[in-house]
Amino acid sequence: MGLMDMFQKATNSTKIKCKKCGNEETAYNLTQNLYICPNCGYYYRLGARDRIELTADKKSFTEIDTGLVSKDFLEFPNYADKLEKAKASTKEDDAVVCGKAAIGGKEVALFVMDSKFIMASMGSVVGEKITRLFEYATANQLPVIGFTASGGARMQEGIVSLMQMAKVSGAVKQHSNAGLLYITVLTDPTTGGVTASFAMQGDIILAEPKALVGFAGRRVVEQTTKSQLPDNFQSAEFLLHHGFIDAIIPRNELRGTLTQLLTMHGRRDVS
Ligand SMILES: [Zn+2]
Repeated sequence: MGLMDMFQKATNSTKIKCKKCGNEETAYNLTQNLYICPNCGYYYRLGARDRIELTADKKSFTEIDTGLVSKDFLEFPNYADKLEKAKASTKEDDAVVCGKAAIGGKEVALFVMDSKFIMASMGSVVGEKITRLFEYATANQLPVIGFTASGGARMQEGIVSLMQMAKVSGAVKQHSNAGLLYITVLTDPTTGGVTASFAMQGDIILAEPKALVGFAGRRVVEQTTKSQLPDNFQSAEFLLHHGFIDAIIPRNELRGTLTQLLTMHGRRDVS
């Protein structure tokens, strides 16, 4: 269930406790504040549908490639069960939602990953759907806007999950060769194989404040390099400072920024 569903079901005065600072806020206030804690600035993670609601023009989103579901072809212990539970709790078929939408009146192809589905790990379905979206965008001369979030490759699908990195990257390259724009928005957390492929292949790479963005986990990097890492290591702010991303955009400015970028790149209006 997305936050928005939860808030719509909740009465306006229902209190929700911030994970970071413990501040209690009414559901109504949080909705009005775009799911950011007014006390400490913590960004609540958004499900794919909530994100689309906040980003796309009202009623402009049309989903494509629905009904693709992962198979437990390795008969990996507990995977089938995990998939069923994720489907039931999120009402999604897998960890990414793709479709056509308008942002500020500009037509785009949009993919949004959903960290509530097995930490948005990238398996065969995530890779296939994003690949198809790029192919669709190339065929229809559309820019791609992608919201990434991921715990990394889906280990329960073994080597097949790793192959998705190359497959999506191929489709991104064809889209790029056609002269089309690709913007990524890195949200908390974007890690592993997703960072190592399409999250970092955007022509323009944006991030939400304080989003965790990295490849291997902090402890692994510390142990491998035998060095002590700064506190803000793998934060969006650290990446911006080191030139890995182009800008950090607060949630309330994101729609405006995307609209501006699409306009600057001469995207066509919805007909
Ligand atoms: Zn807080």
